[in-house]
Amino acid sequence: MSSETRPNGAASPRPVLFFDIDNCLYPRSSKVHDLMATLIDDYFAKHLGLPEEDAVRLHKEYYQNYGLAIEGLVRHHQIDPLEYNAKVDDALPLEGIIKPNPALRRLLEDIDTSKVKLWLLTNAYVTHGRRVVKLLGVEDLFEGLTYCDYSEIPIICKPHKDMFARAMREAGVDRAEDCYFVDDSFSNCESSQKLGWTTAHLVEEGLPLPPKQASKYQIRHLEELRNVFPQIGSRSSDATDDRIQLCHGVLLLLDRLLPLGLGDLQLLLQLFDVALLVLFAVVEAREQGDEQLYLLLLPVNVPYPEARTDEHCDLASYVSYAERTGLDVQSTVYVGTRYEYTVAAALAPFGFSIMRVGGKSDCGIDLIGTWAVPSALAPIRVILQCKVASRGTAIRPGIIRELEGTFIGAPVGWRGAGVLGLLVAPKPATKGVREAMGRSRWPMGFVCCSNDGVLKQLIWNRTAEEKGLEGMGVNVQFPQGDSKEDPPPAVRKDECLAEGDKQLST
Ligand SMILES: [Mg+2]
Repeated sequence: MSSETRPNGAASPRPVLFFDIDNCLYPRSSKVHDLMATLIDDYFAKHLGLPEEDAVRLHKEYYQNYGLAIEGLVRHHQIDPLEYNAKVDDALPLEGIIKPNPALRRLLEDIDTSKVKLWLLTNAYVTHGRRVVKLLGVEDLFEGLTYCDYSEIPIICKPHKDMFARAMREAGVDRAEDCYFVDDSFSNCESSQKLGWTTAHLVEEGLPLPPKQASKYQIRHLEELRNVFPQIGSRSSDATDDRIQLCHGVLLLLDRLLPLGLGDLQLLLQLFDVALLVLFAVVEAREQGDEQLYLLLLPVNVPYPEARTDEHCDLASYVSYAERTGLDVQSTVYVGTRYEYTVAAALAPFGFSIMRVGGKSDCGIDLIGTWAVPSALAPIRVILQCKVASRGTAIRPGIIRELEGTFIGAPVGWRGAGVLGLLVAPKPATKGVREAMGRSRWPMGFVCCSNDGVLKQLIWNRTAEEKGLEGMGVNVQFPQGDSKEDPPPAVRKDECLAEGDKQLST
């Protein structure tokens, strides 16, 4: 691809942000890497006639020496690289694993492409690279793809400097300082950084950090790119900055025109300045769909999604509806719905005002609403996922990942870090669930509520504490035991513990 040019013929200074694809645009935890490793081991065993153990060892050796198993295969065994690609990368059952990722799309869309070019840089062959970004639903957001061409000899791939040089050539960028890059591979990051690129090494949450950083930046999640590469700009912040600059200019002019020494007028100007900043921020947040900021600024204006049905709206109306229509009280639908209404009623005395939602686009959310905590300035928005497990079914830590998904798919006004996600189940959280919750970067908690509506446990993680529950000065007390004769639960001030992921009281 040729370099971009300006009308006067000078090279365009638009920098390029290069993205690795595998284990970078989708998480390593989706296990594509493991599936791929198995297919590669099979290929080694079958085509080189090796026992399984030797195949695994040789695969590892070539990967470490050349950055790609295929390079060793081509160098030492003269295999057909395109046949290898068809048997390994293109044979992966990705359709069942990689799904469209709205959060990733939002992140990429927020990057101002008038200022930076988005480009893919992968060691996979072109077919695999294109397939993955298509499945993620972000194919149209990249201007190009530099891939490893398996049909050429020798094969050139990351971390070799020639691969980075090719990427620069194809993306039309001349200077290393105009290259930004994110990759999950230590050696790729290290190598690009040495060439003068500005690189962020993605070390997914849960993976051990390297003893020494591979590159200038090290991140746990792609969202952190917003902070580590602020120079590449984002649409929303740039627009806000422009307006604020304009606002400041007007104020400066007014300040010059007004007689000096009038303290009241200057104070008035400062207040006017602050008011304008807030106003612009609100308008900007609304325009950009930044629900979190918008709702933070206007906490009372929370748009509720539509209720699922007009037939029932609480436990009593649902029970009578079930009787009227002859619903099978053993059915999963009845048990699940009854539990959701039971939870809503059980949480009400704690200051929760929640309604039942759902349907096709609920993204796993069963209840939605606010939690009015006496000492908080505004009610906290909460989304709840109810898990009425059948007898003997344990709530497994994987459920936390499911809850994380609901944060991304939540309705407008209910997304963002200002929202608390609660998992509700009739059984207390297991150690595994508590630990998974503790590791999550999302603010979330766990509510144990029995099938007959007795609350037994409410815990939340450190992120929830950092994002809003910290310093509320409010603690929750629950009754002992779980019989109906116990006194109703109450929200009280300055009682019990409220610290991190510790259980408050049972
Ligand atoms: Mg990768």
